[in-house]
Amino acid sequence: MDGLIIVILLILATLVYFMPTIVALKRKHPQESAIGALNVLLGWTFLGWVGALVWACTASLKPVVVVGPPRIPCPFCAELILPAATVCPFCKSIVKEG
Ligand SMILES: [Zn+2]
Repeated sequence: MDGLIIVILLILATLVYFMPTIVALKRKHPQESAIGALNVLLGWTFLGWVGALVWACTASLKPVVVVGPPRIPCPFCAELILPAATVCPFCKSIVKEG
């Protein structure tokens, strides 16, 4: 019985120890391998573990590339507008007589 409790505690301790790496992997953090290395190498120091966890929780949003219809510059204000636009939404100039 004591052996089972020890095994369960060891599993729980391992999960807690690798929590920063698990969080980074779950969040698909772009620096997940570096966070994992910090976790493994310095996680035993409390500061290394906290640092890895905070790092894993930081913004991991990759820049979103918006792909939409092609745009042409407005001849009056140079803002990018749809080729089919008749009125520029930025400067309200009539771009195309419709
Ligand atoms: Zn314009």
